Amino acid sequence: MKTSKLPLKKTDKKIAELITKETRRQTETLDLIPSENIVSKAVLEALGSSLTNKYSEGYPGKRYYGGNQFVDEIETLAQNRARKVFHLGQNWHVNVQALSGSPANFAVYVGLLQPGEKLMGMSLPFGGHLTHGWKVSASGKFYTAVQYGVGRDGLINYDEVATLAHKEHPKLIIAGATAYPRVIDFKKFRRIADDVGAYFMVDMAHIAGLIAAGAHPSPFPYADIVTTTTHKTLRGPRGALIFVNRESEIAKKHGVDSASLLDKAIFPGLQGGPHDNQTAAIAVCLEEATKPAFKAYGKQIVRNAKTLAGELKQFGLELVSGGTENHLMLIDLTNLGISGKEGQNCLEDVGIIVNRNTIPYDTRSPFDPSGIRIGTPSITTRGMKECEMKLVAQLIYEALTISNPSATYNKVKTLCRKFPT
Ligand SMILES: *Cc1c(COP(=O)(O)O)cnc(C)c1O
Repeated sequence: MKTSKLPLKKTDKKIAELITKETRRQTETLDLIPSENIVSKAVLEALGSSLTNKYSEGYPGKRYYGGNQFVDEIETLAQNRARKVFHLGQNWHVNVQALSGSPANFAVYVGLLQPGEKLMGMSLPFGGHLTHGWKVSASGKFYTAVQYGVGRDGLINYDEVATLAHKEHPKLIIAGATAYPRVIDFKKFRRIADDVGAYFMVDMAHIAGLIAAGAHPSPFPYADIVTTTTHKTLRGPRGALIFVNRESEIAKKHGVDSASLLDKAIFPGLQGGPHDNQTAAIAVCLEEATKPAFKAYGKQIVRNAKTLAGELKQFGLELVSGGTENHLMLIDLTNLGISGKEGQNCLEDVGIIVNRNTIPYDTRSPFDPSGIRIGTPSITTRGMKECEMKLVAQLIYEALTISNPSATYNKVKTLCRKFPT
């Protein structure tokens, strides 16, 4: 029996309606969640293509299924484009099959570490990601995780990182964060990793688009392995990339082929068939990321964040580390007398979408922490620039401090209409 060729709204009204509502919600609100973005029509088209019908276990030229000549070309293109976006030579092996950022990170651990071996990453409440060794994550359960944080000033203290590394001798050191508003000094991390003979991995999930645009220093001159999601500042479909330097000294010392270990960790270690539609959409977003318009986009994200941070400070709001050098900032709401959850709700009431977040040395619970995390990737995609950031800061301030949500809501709506998604 043939599958229907009718459009969704004809065959499944309920889901079609909910998708329409979600699309409208995205257009009519300001998205300040720093890990979200708005993909191109081309990316959506690749995601919704016939490639979802295919099984391709294995890698280009080495599949366990027939009929993969075009999928092979797509996956090879995605790998080559990934190298091009980040200006890499053939010594960087790329795996494009990890289903998302978290499985990509696990593939690195499965590939390079034995269960119980030691990894070191930034702790979640200080801005790190769950998968960098936090206890509720498998990264903290199946491996011995040691964690560094930030100082009272909100900045990574590299001397403390070095001291911890020398004391603990981790096999893998991870740099990268999910709520850190400052540039990370990859060179310093490299030196620490060398001093203790550890692999050095950078998880650039949040900042990959900025790095592609030349708006943030690149980790590639320093790291042995780089992982990233593709759906944050890189503005692609949900997915991930793993980059492995074949010439890494530490891999040579261990006498291993780290590229092959990583490939095997993804398949057959952790996953079965790759999502070929997702691979094609990743290839599309990578091509977009090589264009001059994307370079301008990445630089504008950072300029917008800087402007927004400056304006928020003018309103007396307190920012962790005093500001931002990337696409995001953390607002400490303590001096306003409201919690992160209350702040998130006040903002949602006026159509501004953010997420509550712990701040370093938070005295409140992770479910209702002291801060909110905001970023500019999505509103920059909508075309907003410095002058709109002044307005956005004012709207945030109004929502958090003045109890007239309907007036602020109308201003948010007007701004959204001027800058459609
Ligand atoms: C978002 C993120 C991830 C995980 O990505 P998912 O696709 O949500 O699994 C991993 N690491 C960092 C630093 C992230 O910001």
